[in-house]
Amino acid sequence: MFEYAPAPESRSIVDIAPSYGLFINGSFDEGKATFKTVNPATEEVLSEVALAGPEDVDRAVGAARKAYEKWSALPGAERAKYLFRIARIVQERSRELAVLESLDNGKPIRESRDVDLPLVAAHFFYYAGWADKLAYAGFGPDPRPLGVAGQVIPWNFPMLMLAWKIAPALAAGNTVVLKPAETTPLSALFFADVCRQAELPPGVVNIVTGAGDTGRYLVEHPDVAKVAFTGSTEVGRQIARSVAGTGKRLTLELGGKAANIVFDDAPIDQAVEGIVNGIFFNQGHVCCAGSRLLVQESVAEELLSSLKRRMATLRVGDPLDKNTDIGAINSAAQLAKITELSEIGANEGAERWSPPCELPDRGFWFAPTIFTGVTQAHRIAREEIFGPVLAVLTFRTPDEAIEKANNTPYGLSAGIWSDKGSRILAVADQLRAGVIWANTFNKFDPTSPFGGYKESGYGREGGRHGLEAYLA
Ligand code: NAD
Ligand code: MG
Repeated sequence: MFEYAPAPESRSIVDIAPSYGLFINGSFDEGKATFKTVNPATEEVLSEVALAGPEDVDRAVGAARKAYEKWSALPGAERAKYLFRIARIVQERSRELAVLESLDNGKPIRESRDVDLPLVAAHFFYYAGWADKLAYAGFGPDPRPLGVAGQVIPWNFPMLMLAWKIAPALAAGNTVVLKPAETTPLSALFFADVCRQAELPPGVVNIVTGAGDTGRYLVEHPDVAKVAFTGSTEVGRQIARSVAGTGKRLTLELGGKAANIVFDDAPIDQAVEGIVNGIFFNQGHVCCAGSRLLVQESVAEELLSSLKRRMATLRVGDPLDKNTDIGAINSAAQLAKITELSEIGANEGAERWSPPCELPDRGFWFAPTIFTGVTQAHRIAREEIFGPVLAVLTFRTPDEAIEKANNTPYGLSAGIWSDKGSRILAVADQLRAGVIWANTFNKFDPTSPFGGYKESGYGREGGRHGLEAYLA
């Protein structure tokens, strides 16, 4: 083996202001209280951001409500022009945005640059194309927008979740108030500047920063007509309760515990790459991560030894280094959760393994980890860890694989690895999951609907289906 020289992306490409206000009605104004956002790889404070209270949220919803009159009355072709413009500006400024996202979130620059940002632009391009064709989307001849959408997003894909929420809402003629997660507010605030650059009419997009309370003020505001939430199942439940009976429309994208099923006829090397991508992509902070590996007993030994060999080559460290595979855990709180569940896994009797791996002294880090000898009753097989931790179970027959895969309160995604097309189709048919990948994993496309069954939530984002949530 040879050593790689460091290959850092320059952080000076992006300007970060020492403080940011709230983006309401087309301009930034000061909030009264503030909070800090840090770089999880170094614990350095990046900026101080306004903490929106109930009056701030009320002003933002008021601005969106006022902007709605004109925005919803624009011909779709005119709204499309703004969305195309936003998509192009995101492309032009994607290097700045990728560095900013990696700094605030901890994800490797290779992912923010090659996955997140291209998908963000693709979503705006895709929904720009729908804006003047809503009458042909299959929701009646004259579908109408709903009003103000209140949107709350998590920290794992800050900019991509923003695109998933804002692009279809605007294409359909709604206006929005969006609240980014408290550990990753900076790319949404950068996006506010993109909206200004695109000369989007003031009030069409408003960004309010803050923590859970700010999110609660937003979803409970009486002038919000539609709530879109991505985050934990626990908060999703609270929101469902508070929205019930109000007449507001609601979509929830919640957690997952996806099965990645490897049959004995699967190409082992490809499957290993898919398993690594399934659980270690974005530090495992992925709701649809392949966090339960189900491998057929006859190939388990061979597959696990290849997987361990591959894991030993994963590079953990500086998110801005272009050679980094696994970056920083997003926050101290998330690191504590991953550490705790992993300890529970070991105490419950599963066998823990990580490759030798030196972790930086500062910041939040967790080595890629697998557990073997896991049973369905173990907490690490049932609960979402949301980190780089894989639970490995085995099976003997396809029926057993299906039964184990479906034995979960979640139903967001699944993966199937087999050389046999008929087997893939037969198994996919019986899995209760919103997205099923065959001989690949964690592939996303704006034309493809995404969403869950059971405790993974309801409603679909992406594709033609994603428009339905924003139209009456
Ligand atoms: P979280 O639910 O605590 O936070 C998500 C967002 O909701 C944040 O912006 C937060 O400030 C806000 N929030 C918190 N309490 C709120 C309340 N009472 N009312 C309104 N908003 C509130 O989740 P987290 O721990 O920050 O993120 C990790 C979780 O998110 C994981 O469990 C993961 O499964 C889930 N997630 C799901 C998806 C998906 O697409 N299904 C995507 C990403 C993350
Ligand atoms: Mg941060």
